[in-house]
Amino acid sequence: MKIELTDQQRENQQRFQAFVEREVMPRAEVYDESGVFPDDLALAMGRAGHLGALAPVEYGGLDLDMISFGLQNEAYGRGCASARSLLTVHNMVLASVLRWGSAAQKARWLPGLAAGQSLAAFALSEPESGSDANSLQTYAVLEGDHYSLHGSKKWITFGQLAGLFLVFAKLHGKTTAFLVERGSPGLAVEAISPMGGCRAAMLAELRLDGCRVPAANLLGRPGLGWTYVANAALDNGRYSVAWGCVGLAQGCLEASLAYVNRRRQFGALLREHQLIQAMVADMVAGVEAARLLCFKAGYLQEIGDPGAILATSLAKYFGAQNAARVSGAAVQIHGANGFSRVFPVHRHWRDAKVMEIIEGSTQIQQMIIGRASAAG
Ligand SMILES: Cc1cc2nc3c(=O)[nH]c(=O)nc-3n(C[C@H](O)[C@H](O)[C@H](O)COP(=O)(O)OP(=O)(O)OC[C@H]3O[C@@H](n4cnc5c(N)ncnc54)[C@H](O)[C@@H]3O)c2cc1C
Repeated sequence: MKIELTDQQRENQQRFQAFVEREVMPRAEVYDESGVFPDDLALAMGRAGHLGALAPVEYGGLDLDMISFGLQNEAYGRGCASARSLLTVHNMVLASVLRWGSAAQKARWLPGLAAGQSLAAFALSEPESGSDANSLQTYAVLEGDHYSLHGSKKWITFGQLAGLFLVFAKLHGKTTAFLVERGSPGLAVEAISPMGGCRAAMLAELRLDGCRVPAANLLGRPGLGWTYVANAALDNGRYSVAWGCVGLAQGCLEASLAYVNRRRQFGALLREHQLIQAMVADMVAGVEAARLLCFKAGYLQEIGDPGAILATSLAKYFGAQNAARVSGAAVQIHGANGFSRVFPVHRHWRDAKVMEIIEGSTQIQQMIIGRASAAG
């Protein structure tokens, strides 16, 4: 077996890395501190075509293969988890419209999403419904030519900036997906003040008070919102997060390698101390293993293998925990400097913890992997 990027994939990788090193990394610390994602960065991501990664060329997208999409997420994850999370949620919605949308829905929304002219957010979680996501309380009622949505959505990444929300609500007791535009009557978007990690991910709470949604905005079929739309989107999000975790851990490893080569204690560079070498070895092994799991998931997704879903879950499960471990070791290696804002490792460490909670927490992945594996 040979694991090797194609020329096109390598070219994509270099392009994404160069963009992130130029546009994201120099200011990630500053906007993380402010908790405000720069408008011009979102625009630059759009102009570069990065928000249309999964859209076909006919809609103005990059139509990336799944490995290239993974490499894009790794490149962003290495720079900033908030920027990477914009890729994640935006693509979850874009891919949902692409997969489940009618011709009219695709024509209406895909070009703007692919160009990044409109940002998209994925609105599933609620104050009382998290891991048990299908237990949502938001509901929809058909009233003539439109639906009225009632309820609220919480922790919606980039909800503060999104022009389009993929909202899940019960219709006749069954979860159904709706495309809800910003500015819809009865929709209020409230900012959630910056969190402990992914501080610039512009989280919002949505209040749906009889929110009026045209009947034509139902995505897919009534009642299939959970089994099909939400689960496919979550699978896509997990893949994006898993690669983002590889990038985050890679960033921590690189920062740590630079640090152990300049910091001296007890008359020797840190890299010469064996306990530091042990930490570095664990970091290297973790990053390599997490990346290989992502490659496997990407390969299976690319060939349409049914095992891709479990492989993606595994990549996210291992990748998120590995990101937490590696970023923790990076802070340790940096000592007091690891808690300063001069080095990025403290931000990565806070962001890494988020990865164990979102897109199905570590425990939810354990349940998925454990059940599927035990069932054979
Ligand atoms: C930064 C951030 C961004 C987010 N962005 C979005 C977004 O864009 N869209 C969106 O819809 N949601 C978003 N979320 C919400 C996220 O999806 C939920 O936080 C997640 O699903 C977990 O739900 P919860 O926080 O309610 O925890 P709970 O479900 O209440 O779980 C609490 C704890 O119990 C564990 N647990 C739950 N059930 C079980 C079980 N059966 N067995 C063992 N342990 C269990 C969990 O793993 C967790 O450790 C975001 C959250 C964060 C922090």
